[in-house]
Amino acid sequence: MSRAAIFLDRDGVINQKRDDYVKNISELEIFEYVPNAINLLKKNNFLIILITNQSIINRKIVTLDTLNAIHKKLQNFLNEHNTSIDAIYFCPHKPDENCDCRKPQPGLILKATKEFDINLEESWFIGDSQTDIEAANLANCNSFLVNDSHNLMYAAQEIIKLKNSSV
Ligand SMILES: [Mg+2]
Ligand SMILES: [Zn+2]
Repeated sequence: MSRAAIFLDRDGVINQKRDDYVKNISELEIFEYVPNAINLLKKNNFLIILITNQSIINRKIVTLDTLNAIHKKLQNFLNEHNTSIDAIYFCPHKPDENCDCRKPQPGLILKATKEFDINLEESWFIGDSQTDIEAANLANCNSFLVNDSHNLMYAAQEIIKLKNSSV
């Protein structure tokens, strides 16, 4: 049976965004409410899938090993709080490579949808930029734009409210 998912953008949603990119584990500053928000979503039966543009790979700013270490730090932090992200998908390409996976392209959403048998109609993309919303629109899933005052925790609560009111 197909499942609903919450697709999460990384920078600006899970952790503090940096103009010069998150280049090492010490630059990954995870927002304190993230474990609770993910826990809440998982309790409501959503798969949690991270979808992130990381052109720093093909710009040769960080290696794949470093990116993996950054994501391992995130998972370890979540595990310490008894939760986790189910899968992490990233696009390594630069804009001029014209790939189909760099948001606003929906390639990674569609790939995850296939691999996890996701019901897109009941799924949401939570992001902090217009490209996240565009990717969600192209994939035909719902979207939620977050900002400093309406963050991931707020989005999680609102999505669950909507889910419970529609059944
Ligand atoms: Mg972002
Ligand atoms: Zn790509």
